[in-house]
Amino acid sequence: MTTISRKLQLVHDRIAKACRAAGRDPASVRLLAVSKTFGTDAVMEALLAGQRAFGENYIAEGVQKILALRAWQAARVDEPSGPDASALEWHCIGPVQGNKTRLVAEHFDWVQSLDRLKIAQRLSEQRPPHLPPLQICLQVNVDGGANKSGLAPADVQALALEVAQLPRLALRGLMAIPEPAVDFVAACALHARVKAIFDQINDAAVLPLPMDTLSLGMTADLEAAIHAGSTMVRVGTAIFGGRSRAAG
Ligand SMILES: *Cc1c(COP(=O)(O)O)cnc(C)c1O
Repeated sequence: MTTISRKLQLVHDRIAKACRAAGRDPASVRLLAVSKTFGTDAVMEALLAGQRAFGENYIAEGVQKILALRAWQAARVDEPSGPDASALEWHCIGPVQGNKTRLVAEHFDWVQSLDRLKIAQRLSEQRPPHLPPLQICLQVNVDGGANKSGLAPADVQALALEVAQLPRLALRGLMAIPEPAVDFVAACALHARVKAIFDQINDAAVLPLPMDTLSLGMTADLEAAIHAGSTMVRVGTAIFGGRSRAAG
């Protein structure tokens, strides 16, 4: 086993164990491999180990990898053992500035970091007609922490309603990056606040479709996130190793 495939296996084991502890089905939690700052070769290694969904924070870096992977897969299309190109899924999890919306709309499958209507409108307008709708999570700033991105909890439902109306976007759920907590109990409590907003909006039945994705949990806190109800954990360090460059 390569190092990355071994580490992927360990992360799957952690997810399964956390699900068992929480009385949940391990199939109810997806793994997003956060490949920011790592090269195309690392993504290929994870892809060959069976990983399909990748997260990128920096738009230009992400698009470069997406194009490189597509070219690599196109060159292997006749090999029956080659990975299935259509199964690769790219998630934008970093801030999207107005001048980057076209690149995002043209290349990514998901945006998990949406927190402004203006950006949502541009993404919908710029999503190419031949592609499926861009899958969206709204980012919630649950603790008002140093992490400045994200909606205040009180503003989430209003933007969810607006996004659900946009023709080329598909609202899937909520994403949050809580500040590191002192212990497991405190981490669970923070994640549970996002889960409560998620349930509140779904229970109000104001959206045309219920949200199905709660994107919570990273290398340090995925167990707490799963305990609180996460359906997608975003893991970088535990799969690819430490990053020398700061996270965006
Ligand atoms: C970097 C990053 C992650 C992964 O963090 P790790 O601690 O390396 O697992 C997850 N989500 C977002 C939004 C990130 O920026």
